[in-house]
Parts: sequence; structure tokens; C-alpha cells
Amino acid sequence: MRCYPTAVSTTCAYCGVGCGVRMQPQAEGFTASGEMSHPANLGKLCVKGAALGETLNLTGRLLQPEIRRVPVSWSQALDAVAQGLQDTIRQHGPQSVAFYGSGQLLTEDYYVANKLMKGFIGSGNMDTNSRLCMASAVVGYKRAFGADAVPCCYQDLDKADCVIITGSNTAWAHPVVYQRIAQAKKERPEMQIIVIDPRHTATCDIADLHLPLRPGSDAALFCGALNAMREHNKIDSDFLQQHTQGAEDTLSAAQRWTLAATADFCGLSVERLQAFYQIILACERLITLFSMGINQSSSGVDKCNAIINLHLASGRIGREGCGPFSITGQPNAMGGREVGGLANQLAAHMGFLPEDVERVGRFWGSNRVATAPGLNAVDMFRAIEEGQIKAIWIMGTNPVVSLPDADRVRTALARCPLVIVSDIVRDTDTTQVAHICLPALGWGEKSGTVTNSERCISRQRAFLPPPGEAKPDWWIISQVAQRLGFEEAFSYQHPADIFREHARLSGYENEGTRAFDISGLAQLSNQQWHEMRPIQWPVNANAPLGTLRLFSDGKFYHPDGKARLIPITPRLPVNLPTIFYPLVMNTGRVRDQWHTMTRTGKSARLMQHISEPFCQYHPDDCPTAQQGDVLRVSSAYGWLLLRAQPDSLQARGSVFVPMHWNNQFSQQARVDSLIAACTDPLSGQPESKQMPVRIQRW
Ligand code: SF4
Repeated sequence: MRCYPTAVSTTCAYCGVGCGVRMQPQAEGFTASGEMSHPANLGKLCVKGAALGETLNLTGRLLQPEIRRVPVSWSQALDAVAQGLQDTIRQHGPQSVAFYGSGQLLTEDYYVANKLMKGFIGSGNMDTNSRLCMASAVVGYKRAFGADAVPCCYQDLDKADCVIITGSNTAWAHPVVYQRIAQAKKERPEMQIIVIDPRHTATCDIADLHLPLRPGSDAALFCGALNAMREHNKIDSDFLQQHTQGAEDTLSAAQRWTLAATADFCGLSVERLQAFYQIILACERLITLFSMGINQSSSGVDKCNAIINLHLASGRIGREGCGPFSITGQPNAMGGREVGGLANQLAAHMGFLPEDVERVGRFWGSNRVATAPGLNAVDMFRAIEEGQIKAIWIMGTNPVVSLPDADRVRTALARCPLVIVSDIVRDTDTTQVAHICLPALGWGEKSGTVTNSERCISRQRAFLPPPGEAKPDWWIISQVAQRLGFEEAFSYQHPADIFREHARLSGYENEGTRAFDISGLAQLSNQQWHEMRPIQWPVNANAPLGTLRLFSDGKFYHPDGKARLIPITPRLPVNLPTIFYPLVMNTGRVRDQWHTMTRTGKSARLMQHISEPFCQYHPDDCPTAQQGDVLRVSSAYGWLLLRAQPDSLQARGSVFVPMHWNNQFSQQARVDSLIAACTDPLSGQPESKQMPVRIQRW
């Protein structure tokens, strides 16, 4: 029996809304309620958050280090990890090893992992599953603003005249944000909600207009809107002249997207498109909320910039109720971006420019800092397959389920000479192919910080004792670093030591040139860090209380202070339907599950919502099947067996399959085993939303 102390305020384990949660001890276990004072949720929780107390049991936990499935002591396991990495580096060089992290890691864990790989092993090969989630938005923001900086905050949703929701089933994937928009609509019925999605989802319940566009045609739609803005003299020429570059070329490139051309390309009626233009041209305050439907694309970066162009061209950015607003999938996708967890980042929003490498080297006291980006997630696992990477440490994620072309990922890992996995679950599809498994602390047991979609840093606080031999990720990584000979740089005693160092680095030789600056938090005592209230970055001498909204002064992070409009040439997905695979499969979340279900799968209440994997499709696309039949869903990469769910609201030619199920819960249900590993050339993000398939009754 685990002991339970007093009520604790923490942050939800799941999506990037980042809700504050109060965990209240009961006679048996805990109940979760929304934290009233947290700006992300103001007391609300979705059903997943409310069920957090039902997922805390130790069933299935990895509680002791294991080497080839045999329990060992920590010192044996850590020696084996350090020895394995050292031997590989000695024989094959630093580029032969890789770390693959996760948006489930706390910022402090992420920071230490990134520091070890990029600062001391000297390779850029640290990437993260956030590559599957947000990488396109990162590049889109950097191209437009000169920094990976989300301009908006959740309060803006309360103030907008119109919210466009594109590429997101917000009602299920980010429910508290959806509730916030629904509440604003209730209070101000004149507020317009537009949902852009090939699929009819629960989010359409509050929509004034739904645009069921052709899968993958989003960039053309936003170019068409930009052109309509020009045709109707709605461009903010003063804003463009004073605060941007690239407007002329961008508007010129958009001219081909006439009403008729856009309607044709996007598969929409002219009338529906006109209704869309009318709303967005008339409204004063516009938010475009976007998520995986935009990012998970072979042209995801261009789609992001097509959205941002629209906001820049009309000056609807940096003001209350305005802006392009990406919402992240994971609890700490943003924190990972902040520490440099993506392979193309070094640390604290710095890249691999020589001056950045030197600056970070000075700060860390290392002359081994990586000088070039490493491999992104998809390329990292290809490099394992090709034998270039010979040792990988996977932390808090399950790539055998979640990466595209997942069967190939499993085969590659099975052949890799050294696979180390830190996790809280003993039997996952990925631990099955691991040589060394390290038991990490889980949510409720570990302590640190996370950053949500509105740049808000919140504390995750421990309220449970460490189970078995499980340890914090930062401790595990530091112990290995010390065994590799880097004792002084990894002598942390407390996660607050790491947070302070991270905050100092963000402001180190900065002079206001980098967006991510939390140097104002670098002096927190351990007690102050423990009690830290949610705060939005930047937090520095100019903004000691944090920053609600960016770009209010019209200044951006490119050296000339101006934003960039980017001319866009829309492209369709790489893989298009054929006579063999005539339907387009879309993938995504269901309301009550999270990622590969290792936590939510423990709650009977959550499993009741949808208990098995399914395929949703228009009845005309498989007339021989009835509700509840078993369907075989095939792509050029593999096949699955799923429950048939015909739905006449779905567009013909499109099917939807949830992403969560894996071999722990259902045989032949890993949807990523059907998906091609083709990626956006700028962001490396896979095209997980548009895969040609065929469906047949089984
Ligand atoms: Fe947790 Fe997201 Fe639900 Fe909030 S909306 S309670 S962060 S899953």
C-alpha cells in the first residue's frame, strides 16, 4: 500500500492545455479536481484529467532495473549503460549513439539528457517524440517570427470575434480549450466558430461553419483567404510596411488562388468558401487554432506559414483576441523545445551557429559541444536500421507503436546492438526489444516543471512516494554522465538545481535577442521553485511577472525586428489514393485515451467510452460491412483488423482510425504500422494524417 499525504496542486499528465490539478487524498487513493487558480483551466478538467486518480496503481510498472529482462541493482544497470555507451563511442564515434526523448519528460529531465548528448558526448543525436507533434509549427514560427514563439494566450480565446479551428478535433484532443471556446460562444453568440477538417468531428457541434476540405489541401485554403483579403482591400498595409518583409512576393504568389481555383483544389463549394471569406474578412479579432492536422504533413511548415501569413497581412497578431495559435499534443512538448530537445536545436532556443556553440560551450564548461544538428526521429531510426547508430537510449516513449512504418522501427531496434529504455511500464512494444530497462518515476511521483501551449511554465509536484527502485530521469541520466567522466557538470542534488541552470542559460549573453528567456527565475531558492506559480515566458528583468502575449510592440525576433511573410506553393500529400488503395486514412485521438494507453488504459471508466479500435468511414465506401463487423484496413505497408463504424456524416473517400491501440490491448491494431515514413523536408515531421488505404469486410 502506498502512503498518501495531504492535497497537492500539480499539472495534468496529458495534453498541452496544461491544466492545473488538485489531487486530494481519500481513504483509498486520490481524487482529482481542477485547480481554480491555474490560468489554463480555471478549475475545469476533462474526463481524462478527472480520472487521473484511477491510473495510479502499480499494475504493470517497471520497478527494478533489468538487463535482458533479469532484475539487477542500480549500480549494475548504470555501469552497463555507461560501459555500453562508452564502448560504442570509442569504437564508432559520438555519432553512433542517440537519445530519443519525449514530451512526457519534465523540463529538468529533458535538460540533463540534452546536455549530456549535445554538450558532453558531442553529438546532435538527441531528438524527441515531439517531432511527431509540433516540429512543423516550430519551423513555421521560426521562419515568420525569427523564434519558436507562440504569440497567443488562452485569454485570447475569450476575446476573439472569430476562432478558426483547423486540423484539430479540439473537443476530444484538447477538451478544456474546447470548453473555453464553447463558453465564450455561449456568452457572445455573435462570436463565429469555423471548423476546417475533412472529418465531421465533435468539434463541429459548436461550429457556425464547417469546411470539409480535401485531405491535405489546407495551404491552398489559406492562400485563397489571403488573396480574398487582397481583393477586398482588407490588407493592413501600414502594419505590413512597418513590421514585416516579404509581403509583396507572398501576395503575388497567392493571386493564383482565386475563389474558383481554391474551391476546386480544396473540394469545397464556392458558396461555402465565400461564407468562410465573409466571416474572416469582416471580423476584427481572429484566432486560428491549429494542431496535428496541420503539422503532421509533408508540407506542414508551409501550412503553418500560410496561416501566419493571413494574420500578418491583416495585422491580427500581438493584439487581444488575435493570432496564429498552435496547441501542442503533450504535457511538455514546449519544455522540450525550450531545452533543445529537438535534434536541430542546441539549447535554450539556440541552434548550431558557431557563436551559439561557443556560447553554450562556455556556459557548460565543455569543449565537446556538438557543432551540427543530429538526426530527427524518422532518420534516427533509419540510421539504426542501416547500422550507423549502434546504441540508443529511449526515454518515456514507445516508438514501436508511435513512429510511422512502425514494423520497420521494431525490426531496426531488434537488430540494434544496444537499446536502453527508461520507462514506467515494464511490458511495452518497445521494452520487448530493449537490452537494458531502467525504471523511471511516473506522474505523481516525480517533481519538476512543464510548459503548456501558451508558454506557461507550471510545476508538476510529487504526491506519491517513489515505488520500488524507480528513480527520477534526471538522476538516472546524471549517474550515467558521472560514470562517463563528467562528474562536475552533472552533480545535481535536486531538480531545482537543474531548473536554475536552465534559466541562467536562457539569459546567458542574451541581450534580448532570444525569445525564450526565463533568466528572471534563475535565482529561485528550492522552496521558491517548489511553490512556483504558473508563469508565461519570457520572464526576465523587462518582464519579471512573465508575458501574456508576444509581439504587442510590433517587434519580432529576426535581426531587423520584422516578421516575414513566406510565399507558399501548396502541395498535396506525397501518397495519393490509387485504385489499390482508394481511400485516405486520417489518424488521431479519441476523447478518453492518451497516447499508447499505458496510463488511461488502467481506468475502467475511461475504457468504457470506446473500448476497442475502430475504423470510421462513409457507408458508401464499404457497403458490404455493417456496424460492428470486423474490417481489414490495408495500406502498402501493412494491415489491421478494426471494428467497422459506418457514419454518413463522414466524407466519402476518407476514413478515420485512432492512434492509441497497441499490442498490449489489441493484436494487429498499431495504426502506425500502416503509415509511410515520409516527412516534411523542413521540419522532419511525418505525414501521419493522409495515408492511402483500402477497407474490406473481414
Ligand atoms: Fe488534462 Fe488536457 Fe484534459 Fe486539461 S484538457 S485535464 S490537460 S487532458
